Amino acid sequence: MTEITCKLLVIGAGPGGYVCAIRAGQLGIDTVIVESTKLGGSCLNVGCIPSKAMIHVAEEFEKAAEAAAGKTPFGLTAAEPKLDLKQAVAWKDGIVQRLNNGVAGLLRKAKVKIVHGKARFRDGKTVVVETETGPKTIQAEAIVIATGSAPVELSFLPFGGNVISSTGALALTEVPKRLVVVGGGYIGLELGTAFAKLGAKVTVVEAQDKILPLYDAELTGPISKRLTALGVEVLLGAKALGPTPKGDGLRIETADGKERSLPADKILVTVGRKPVTDGLGLENLVLDMDGRFIRIGERCETAMRGIYAIGDVTGEPMLAHRAMAQGEMVAEIVAGLPRAWDKRGIAAICFTDPEIVSVGLSPDEAKRADHELKIGQFPFAANGRAMTRHGEAGFVRVVAQAGSELVLGIQAVGQGVSELSAAFGLAIEMGATLQDIAGTIHAHPTLGEAFPEAAMKALGHALHI
Ligand code: FAD
Ligand code: NAD
Repeated sequence: MTEITCKLLVIGAGPGGYVCAIRAGQLGIDTVIVESTKLGGSCLNVGCIPSKAMIHVAEEFEKAAEAAAGKTPFGLTAAEPKLDLKQAVAWKDGIVQRLNNGVAGLLRKAKVKIVHGKARFRDGKTVVVETETGPKTIQAEAIVIATGSAPVELSFLPFGGNVISSTGALALTEVPKRLVVVGGGYIGLELGTAFAKLGAKVTVVEAQDKILPLYDAELTGPISKRLTALGVEVLLGAKALGPTPKGDGLRIETADGKERSLPADKILVTVGRKPVTDGLGLENLVLDMDGRFIRIGERCETAMRGIYAIGDVTGEPMLAHRAMAQGEMVAEIVAGLPRAWDKRGIAAICFTDPEIVSVGLSPDEAKRADHELKIGQFPFAANGRAMTRHGEAGFVRVVAQAGSELVLGIQAVGQGVSELSAAFGLAIEMGATLQDIAGTIHAHPTLGEAFPEAAMKALGHALHI
């Protein structure tokens, strides 16, 4: 059996793991990374990147279809659009491939050794990797578990046949005529919206009494309206029961307790993600768990000295940029640098239509934390750039502490607001007050102007409403 020794071993080359390994390499740490599938993890291969590529395709298709139907208010007409979904998927796969190669190049540049295979702990310092050329034993002073997450499967609706996960949905080469989506969270609504734009008849079955339960009703309102306009049926408080006897649809129990069958060519199940720990040999370690996730402290340390965990395997928020930030921090801790998790907020974005961004505390969370609040909201209906983009739905909202006027949270819903997350995140991280934001000159005409206007509204003197 081949023996490797190193200072740092990273298990999993998703956004958490590969960023950790690159940073460790930059710091001169002798680092090995093990990956059982493809570099880049869920995010790059079957998550963030491919989903955003397909969302873009759907947006372009819908714009063309709108023009073909003569529905634009500015008189644009075009021929009926046709989409070769196979080509779109190939284009998406090409982007993924380029990024895979990019990650490999960055790891090489940082002098990180890449081992392909599935890792299993033998003890707190030793991992055995099953590689194509046989098992390899890796001994490391510090080990980072970055094994990520996988889709949750419903026992009465297992994946296979016409029941698909997000991974299956992103590989479809034909648009299903009827798509039933179980779970109206991030993935269900991002992909459900995309398929509706591509022409599928989409029905969303959500167990709770609202879509995107993490966000408040003001933020999700414009999404619900748009789903209705796209012809998407949203069934709230509904339970999936299982496939129809002929396998051509889904049986559900509606909110009023009645059973109904929804015809479906594909059933997309997006009811959350679970940590990937099967076969990792966790039984050979003594870790504290948080349900099925690995419990970590402020420095991503687990209950065992020298073992860290980062990213989705540690639970919500399961976001790529959180995993990356944790990875970078852990590499610096292993290098002996004084680091701690002192982040004030992690931006969360839902790439629906319109998009939602949230950083820091929502009004309800801030109230629960016993803050006296000043809240300002500015609608895109009063923003010139939004009007010229034909995207007046939505608003920017700023939540601040009364008295100190420290900004505690910023939320927005609207077309293209994902790009405002940079400004929102910076404001929270720098400890901005309402005056700081109101006093920053924002270029005209931009969507960003809604941000100081919302702060001015909270201060009682918005200019354009
Ligand atoms: P992962 O990316 O899951 O990577 C873990 C890696 O570990 C995998 O490559 C896996 O093969 C490897 N591995 C597991 N076990 C072993 C083992 N025993 N040995 C060796 N290797 C192993 N997040 C966002 O922030 N923005 C988005 O827009 C977004 N969109 C998404 C869309 C979809 C459809 C999905 C599914 C997810 C999306 N996410 C998004 C979430 C994002 O993908 C995850 O938060 C992110 O990938 C987590 O990174 P990670 O490094 O923790 O784990
Ligand atoms: P989610 O937690 O966002 O949504 C799951 C939804 O399914 C919830 O609304 C829940 O109430 C519902 N649900 C659960 N069980 C159900 C059942 N039996 N029947 C009907 N509905 C049911 O999970 P997801 O959409 O699978 O996404 C998983 C994770 O991936 C998220 O936690 C998110 O952090 C990450 N993600 C992020 C992005 C992004 O950042 N834009 C995009 C996609 C995924």
